[in-house]
Amino acid sequence: MITWLAFQDKLMTKERLLRLNIPINGDINCILCDCGELETHQHLFVECSWIQNIRVALLNWSGITISSYNVSRSLQWIKNRHWRQFRKEVAAAIIGETIYYTWQARNWKHFRKINVNTTFIEIQIKKELRERISMLAGSRRPRNCPFLMQRICN
Ligand SMILES: [Zn+2]
Repeated sequence: MITWLAFQDKLMTKERLLRLNIPINGDINCILCDCGELETHQHLFVECSWIQNIRVALLNWSGITISSYNVSRSLQWIKNRHWRQFRKEVAAAIIGETIYYTWQARNWKHFRKINVNTTFIEIQIKKELRERISMLAGSRRPRNCPFLMQRICN
């Protein structure tokens, strides 16, 4: 759901609140990094060093390369690859999970003043992807991508 909203650019980032003339308490800049950038959809989910740390780690881990110009373009790009279905699913899941956890971390910091560690999130996403894949056990899709399976599940 959050991923879908992010694709639609509807999450209430501070930039969006400003555009809607909704008053914002405190800082209008991104709170996940210290770069002083306005918290836009594009910054938070693509350019922010916080999400980039996690995305790069997960892509290295899976051996998948994704263009990350913006979220919806990345998804379209994945869709257009001549990849096996399973590889596309893993790539889309990495994008979806990083967005989900970035938005959650942003809210924890914003509302509860809690800093979420990127390494912790990276481990959490790997665990979730493994769990999702284990539910596909026996199906043909993952078996068609033995190298990707091996990378992710070991
Ligand atoms: Zn940032």
